[in-house]
Amino acid sequence: EAKARGKARVVVYEHAIGRARVERLEMVDDLRRAVARAEIEIAYQPIVDVDSGRIAGAEALARWRRDGVPVSPELFIGIAEESGLIVDLGESVLTAVAADAAVLHDQIDGPFVMTVNISARQLREPGFVELVARSLTAMNGTALVLEITERQGIDLDPLVLDAMHAIAAMGVRFAIDDFGVGFSSISYLRDIPVQIIKADGSLSHAIDSDERASALLRSVAHMGRSLGLEVVVEGIEREAQLTVLRDHGHQLYAQGFLLHRPMPIDDLLTTLRGDRTTSALTSVS
Ligand code: C2E
Ligand code: MG
Ligand code: MG
Ligand code: MG
Repeated sequence: EAKARGKARVVVYEHAIGRARVERLEMVDDLRRAVARAEIEIAYQPIVDVDSGRIAGAEALARWRRDGVPVSPELFIGIAEESGLIVDLGESVLTAVAADAAVLHDQIDGPFVMTVNISARQLREPGFVELVARSLTAMNGTALVLEITERQGIDLDPLVLDAMHAIAAMGVRFAIDDFGVGFSSISYLRDIPVQIIKADGSLSHAIDSDERASALLRSVAHMGRSLGLEVVVEGIEREAQLTVLRDHGHQLYAQGFLLHRPMPIDDLLTTLRGDRTTSALTSVS
């Protein structure tokens, strides 16, 4: 009898796994359709120069509504990575961003930097360098940064390095995203053409309340600076965090909900047509 019950439990368990797997497959299918129909939208989150308060650029963030309901990017990007869909999704994001950047370039004064997240997998695609070249041309003068995450570690095989060097030669810069939470050794900063580090939000989380946290972020900023890299600090949600960054004394860039939330391109254009300074920063000065 105990055996029968055990067996029943196994069946229920397999059912649950089966259901989860089916749901995931359905999601992959829906996502594939959404990518093919160009239904992936982009939200832009401004990146601000901490000293001047000026918006220097924006990060493009993919958005997907599945039957009208927003799906978390962590979830659908993860699914896209696993299924290989990230290559098509990434292409559609880059193409859409380039079109928006061209409009933006016509409507605003002064330099502007668009940053786009890419997956390391895209760097292995034979057509990727060409896609970046096309996108850059379409952007019509807006600068392009590609963010690669160090979360899974960056595999520095020659294929990836060659693609990075070819892309860097076009004047496109690379940023290491989620810096400080990944698995890889920081020695790759020596080996790959990277110009920017983005300190992960978890590093800025407690900088206004915990001396060790702020010392850690300061060290990351100093390290970046001594390597000649620009440093962007993510996850700024409170005034007090901003004060820590302002007191840092070196040029830093910041991104976070306190400064600006991710927004549709039309709102970004409206914001940039104003004076391009960020109210959260002008009010503390
Ligand atoms: P990420 O590249 O590190 O992007 C920053 C994430 O932090 C965004 O989440 C943004 O909305 C969120 N964020 C910004 N300010 C704050 C803040 O003050 N507090 C908190 N708690 N969060 C803040 P989002 O849009 O959900 O994207 C999550 C991740 O999905 C991104 O992290 C990136 O790794 C990935 N992702 C998004 N779009 C793309 C894409 O087009 N391609 C690829 N490969 N990955 C993407
Ligand atoms: Mg990013
Ligand atoms: Mg990031
Ligand atoms: Mg992050």
